[in-house]
Amino acid sequence: MENIIDFEPVDRRKWNWNTIFFVTVFHIFAVWSIFTMSWANAAAFLVTWWISGSWGIGLGYHRLYTHRGFKAPRWLEHFLAVCGTLALQSGPISWVTTHRLHHAFTETDRDPHSPLNGVFWAHMGWIFRGTAQVQPKSVRDRYSPDLLRDPFLVFIDKYYYVTSIVVGIGLFAIGGWSMALAGIFLRTVVGWHSTWLVNSATHLWGSRRFETRDTSRNNALIAAITWGEGWHNNHHAIPRSARHGLTAAEVDLNWLQLKALEKVGLVKDLYGYDLKAEAAKDALKKAA
Ligand SMILES: [Zn+2]
Ligand SMILES: [Zn+2]
Repeated sequence: MENIIDFEPVDRRKWNWNTIFFVTVFHIFAVWSIFTMSWANAAAFLVTWWISGSWGIGLGYHRLYTHRGFKAPRWLEHFLAVCGTLALQSGPISWVTTHRLHHAFTETDRDPHSPLNGVFWAHMGWIFRGTAQVQPKSVRDRYSPDLLRDPFLVFIDKYYYVTSIVVGIGLFAIGGWSMALAGIFLRTVVGWHSTWLVNSATHLWGSRRFETRDTSRNNALIAAITWGEGWHNNHHAIPRSARHGLTAAEVDLNWLQLKALEKVGLVKDLYGYDLKAEAAKDALKKAA
């Protein structure tokens, strides 16, 4: 992503009361869900977390739409985007724009969730103040022109909350109110905090393989709760790589699923950084 800009730092003065209200209600219902937990509800929680967090946010919003680390048939790309809406982290265009800004301006005053503004700000404070994910048209035009050309993405970007209502009604029909609590409210809150931890914790704690200009780190614990998104230093070093865990020990479930999809022919042009091959290339260069 090029660092040329006609874009002002986010306006942090205004409070977003709507967001504050919904996030608070979701947290209250999430706590309620713990008291009504059952095996069936836990299963609903896990399945919806996998679909929204891994397929939706990890594969869809992040590795496909933000960084274009692979290609898939249009129907599958759209399916992943729809899964992403279930995470209630805004629609694909807002999410991708925010995340591209994070990569273009990491840890400057133009970074929407810069860790230099404090851990709480980087974690969730930023969605409560100012522009948050509602960027002006000029910023969206500049950072997500590829997505804006797709009418389906423009449509679900506007109505991203609909999947949660539909899935919520479905869960209610199957397992009653307690299943809706687990599969929508608890799962959304857990999904939020795991994604937010990538923005807060993996810029604070963990190891660094690459000397990037930011404070990004590789954190196994965060990778475990985000299907592989916690290898954040690797990711900041090679953003386009759809492979974030670069060794056998760096488990990256999102990457493993992409490899499986490639095997059955559903994913192509899959780019994954190969640590060994790159080291061999470097050694050759040095020898020459
Ligand atoms: Zn980052
Ligand atoms: Zn990224």
